[in-house]
Amino acid sequence: MRRSDGLSLRDNLDAVRRRIAESARRVGRDPGAVTLVAVSKGQPPERVREALAAGVRCLGENRVAELVDKHAALGPGPEWHFVGRLQTNKVRTLLRAVPVRLVHSLDRPALAEALDREARRLGRVQPVLVQVNVSGEPTKAGLPPAEVVPFLRWVAALPGLEVQGLMTMAPPVRDPEEARPVFRRLRELLEEARRAGIPGLRMEHLSMGMSGDYQVAVEEGATLVRVGTAIFGEVGGNVG
Ligand SMILES: *Cc1c(COP(=O)(O)O)cnc(C)c1O
Repeated sequence: MRRSDGLSLRDNLDAVRRRIAESARRVGRDPGAVTLVAVSKGQPPERVREALAAGVRCLGENRVAELVDKHAALGPGPEWHFVGRLQTNKVRTLLRAVPVRLVHSLDRPALAEALDREARRLGRVQPVLVQVNVSGEPTKAGLPPAEVVPFLRWVAALPGLEVQGLMTMAPPVRDPEEARPVFRRLRELLEEARRAGIPGLRMEHLSMGMSGDYQVAVEEGATLVRVGTAIFGEVGGNVG
């Protein structure tokens, strides 16, 4: 489908993929080590189907009800990622309805306990990322950097969870270069967590970078980028 700006979803997707590959090569990384999570929040199922037909493999959603509905409409083909703030009272609904590949937003003990409990009930081990509030904005979810390693030591003992890395959101900036220190700090935290040698963790993923800053994030080591607008356009509109 062509949109009024003349760019199809497929064109957008190709451009994002090409930029990911360029950014990876610029710093000597294998472009195949970066997974694109297409954030489809707010997009109707037809539009998401179009993305899947264009080759999208991983979808990210930030609301439980929307993810559950889309999973019901689109089926188990794509990998489903949960990237938003997660209320503990919605954990059961989410995990029962959808085999979530990765919860990117574990940010507090109560949520870890709820996820662990439900995953064990379902006989699963739920992969999660710990969300970090690197920039320290008061309204933003995520643990302060200094609490990450102690939290990991505690969460590693929960048998229903497997921590696979860290996630962050950079503050909105005009120049993506301003996000670079945030991404760099998250990578340092991942290295710090690895050096702590906590048993039971698989600290391999860095989920960082969105439409405005994913190229810088890839240069700083992102293994998962969460891109919505640059693929789908603004919700109900075009790419800005
Ligand atoms: C919406 C959202 C994204 C994608 O944002 P875009 O700027 O549209 O690419 C990524 N991560 C999270 C957590 C989001 O809520």
